[in-house]
Amino acid sequence: MKKIKILSNNLINKIAAGEVVERPVSVIKELVENSIDANSKKISIHIRNGGKTEIKVIDDGDGIRSDELELSVKRHATSKLNSGNLNNISTLGFRGEALPSIASISEMTISSNVNSDLVGREITIFSGETKNLKPINQQKGTVITIKNLFFSTPARLKFLKSDNYESLLIKRMTQKFALSFLDIEFDLFVNRKNILNLRNDYLASEDKLRKRASEILGKEFAENSVKLDQIRDNFEFGGLLGLPTFHHSNTNNQFVFVNNRVVSDKSISSIFKVAYRDFISWDRFPQLILFIKCPTDEVDINVHPAKSEVRFKDINKLRSIIISSFRTTISSAGYRASSTNTLKAVEKFSLNQKFKNNTNLRNYEAELKTHEIEPRFSSKKKDSQETPEIYNPLGYAKSQYHNTYIVSQTKSGIVIVDQHAAHERIVYEKLKKDFYNKSAKTQILLIPEIINIEKGVLENLKDKFEITEKYGLKIEQFGADSIIVREVPNILSECNIKKLVLNLIDELLDFDKSELLESQINKICSSMACHGSIRAGREMEVDEMNDLLRRMENTPFSGQCNHGRPTYIELDLNDIEKLFGRK
Ligand code: ADP
Ligand code: MG
Repeated sequence: MKKIKILSNNLINKIAAGEVVERPVSVIKELVENSIDANSKKISIHIRNGGKTEIKVIDDGDGIRSDELELSVKRHATSKLNSGNLNNISTLGFRGEALPSIASISEMTISSNVNSDLVGREITIFSGETKNLKPINQQKGTVITIKNLFFSTPARLKFLKSDNYESLLIKRMTQKFALSFLDIEFDLFVNRKNILNLRNDYLASEDKLRKRASEILGKEFAENSVKLDQIRDNFEFGGLLGLPTFHHSNTNNQFVFVNNRVVSDKSISSIFKVAYRDFISWDRFPQLILFIKCPTDEVDINVHPAKSEVRFKDINKLRSIIISSFRTTISSAGYRASSTNTLKAVEKFSLNQKFKNNTNLRNYEAELKTHEIEPRFSSKKKDSQETPEIYNPLGYAKSQYHNTYIVSQTKSGIVIVDQHAAHERIVYEKLKKDFYNKSAKTQILLIPEIINIEKGVLENLKDKFEITEKYGLKIEQFGADSIIVREVPNILSECNIKKLVLNLIDELLDFDKSELLESQINKICSSMACHGSIRAGREMEVDEMNDLLRRMENTPFSGQCNHGRPTYIELDLNDIEKLFGRK
């Protein structure tokens, strides 16, 4: 056995670097955190070759005193922690590890100045050894340059991906910081090209987060999200929640911050799936920005060397309060469906636009006027067409097309409703509400429905009937191989009871006490709603159509059906005018 000895500082730092610095973006994260901790108002990041050849972070923060420059790159040297505050950390950094770790695997230069006298100091560290300390012309603030990252740890270098990919990770990280620190200006230059330019010149009336979000995630996100502002126990939830119909193919557009710290925590993002489960199909993901603020004793931030994961004292409590906050917030969006569907529709119309030049367009318009398309119900409903219902958000129903779509006129455009999808959602929400309020109104069937069922199935089904009774659906065993349906919820009275019950049997057989009760209830409601709603293909009277629109307006989540498809799209007059070249 060889002799035991203590490792050299340089080796210790290199080992620590293995945990702290996985790839160039980890360096960016540490340096920007330091700049934020130093009260910077403006942070510029420059990278070359995905950060592999050079990273430079420039800030206008407090700076590092020249007599402390050398100390700042020593292991466990920090200005942020003292014996009293480990359990109450308000800065992003606290471990005193980043600078020495990064310095041990690169060529690092720090120049800094704490005054506005332009006389700063510069220090160069090469592979962990301080090489140079000299005065330099430097504004107040700090510039840190990292060259040839991982040159001394080639194994790490091999794990890096293409320059483009590493740059993309850095861009995303910068965006996260920018969403969390709205008053700081951020610039990102990739190979000298300015790809992010985020200012803080907000107008007084502006919602700062929405403005930044629209610059970072696009205007669509800002328009298709609702403000989250909920307090539960000693947790505060803020941010923007994407509408359910504005879903995404992956979790890249989910941004989570815990006490302003960027975290990427699987245990938190899995909660979002549950919170949106009712509105989004299983293979799609909500887009959102979530700020969790809580007392420092509710969360341990010191569980990961790169501080990107956190541990909550009570994750189950957090889960349930996130879900309830999200649900409350999304329901405040009521009947809203996302505007992206409208955009898609407009694009489609534009592609089909056959009348490209203006002369044709004008002829076409004239033609339209002479052959004005009469809505089906216009003759008997002429008087009521000017009803104030037009000012309801979903407008006044004008006609039905292909026995499937209702077209209504709103104050500033038209709305096309998928009658089946919309009705399904209304029935679903009603069933659920009645179930929870134990207020299902029922109807006794004049002729009870008798349904034959295999004996084996019936055996397993018998004790599940008390569940359906809670929904107002009264089923009993009838002989050895059949059941009898005696009572149904009012809302389902028009549907094919036999088909509904046969379908429900599968859900009931599946009903297993171990699964979340709520999700089971939702499944059953969803199955019932699907059968109980107006099928596409049914002709509707104009009053019936308007009744549907009014009910949509008053039903939470009615902007999408139970499968996350939109229930209506809206075309604004502006869009329509554009299509006709009037604008
Ligand atoms: P930590 O951030 O955990 O304290 P670091 O190794 O990241 O440890 O930084 C060490 C110290 O260097 C910090 O505590 C801080 O005092 C100083 N420092 C680092 N970067 C900056 C900066 N951009 N502006 C001002 N001070 C800085
Ligand atoms: Mg730090």
